[in-house]
Amino acid sequence: MENVVIIGTGCAGLTAAIYTARANLKPLVLTGIMPGGLLTTTSIVENFPGFPEGIDGYELMTRMQAQAEKFGAQVRFATVESVSFDSGLIQLSVDGEPVQTKTLIVSSGAGHKHLNVPGENELEKKGVTYCATCDGALPMFRNQPVVVVGGGDSACEEANYLTRFASVVYLVHRRDSLRASKIMADRLLANPKVQPIWDSAVTEITDIAADKVTGVKLKNLKTGSESTLACSGVFAAIGHVPNTALFKGHLDLHGNGYFKPSGFVSTRVPGVFVAGDCVDSVYRQAITAAGMGCAAAIEAERYLASLEG
Ligand code: NAP
Repeated sequence: MENVVIIGTGCAGLTAAIYTARANLKPLVLTGIMPGGLLTTTSIVENFPGFPEGIDGYELMTRMQAQAEKFGAQVRFATVESVSFDSGLIQLSVDGEPVQTKTLIVSSGAGHKHLNVPGENELEKKGVTYCATCDGALPMFRNQPVVVVGGGDSACEEANYLTRFASVVYLVHRRDSLRASKIMADRLLANPKVQPIWDSAVTEITDIAADKVTGVKLKNLKTGSESTLACSGVFAAIGHVPNTALFKGHLDLHGNGYFKPSGFVSTRVPGVFVAGDCVDSVYRQAITAAGMGCAAAIEAERYLASLEG
């Protein structure tokens, strides 16, 4: 029987691992298929406190894992296949093996929704990105035209942010009105460096042969007309997909698939806590995920103490 099992090794999971390991709970940390989480797909992280010179996303996660292991966390490259919370027991199937634990911290993260167009996968990190806050200030986008895809708050926020660096920000949206909140939409449309392109979809990102983004092919969804647009970057901001499918029917979820905690990180199952991007559909920052991981670890410690007391 484990004291603490942590699912996921993004900022939330590894922070929870550091805290529970320092509390001598010897957490078992399961990486899933993407050790280090989404941050490992980012180049330089410039907004994580403590690194004025910035830090490579992969390095940041590697350091967090080393810090957790230094205090006794056991990190295992393994995937959880099923969970059961019946009869007050927390049971998992991990790569075919049964694992039972007194507490569980689910920090399974979220994935960026993809455009699913030619060129997108091939040019990821070469101009295609899903995070303006992470990548917008990179030299390749400075004083260059960039495209943001989407019409929600994320797209508006990303487009506004990118106007600090880019020469012009084209906002490509599939309809002729924004889904974003009025304040975000108004701010965006008032920004002289933003040029909306309505009723349009990106159908291809070029140029794979050049090994960098040089432009996009667009289709007007009302008229069917096709065009090309030169740009150095494509920022897809069309939403996220939380990694919560495994927990459907076991824990409460919002309609958009994110966990619905009771309180900050607790769930309706005693001893089961949730943290990070699988819970937070609003901020989605490394530091906020780390904060939730810390809170989940402290709650798990308190829960374990209550079992003994
Ligand atoms: P969202 O609200 O779901 O918006 C996604 C946008 O992408 C929509 O405009 C949607 O178009 C478009 N889209 C979806 N799939 C697409 C596809 N395959 N191709 C092209 N376009 C596609 O997601 P979000 O903007 O990430 O926001 C998520 C939540 O976080 C929201 O509740 C939002 O309010 C919140 N948030 C808040 C802030 C803030 O307050 N500062 C910032 C960011 C996010 P349609 O409009 O046609 O559906």
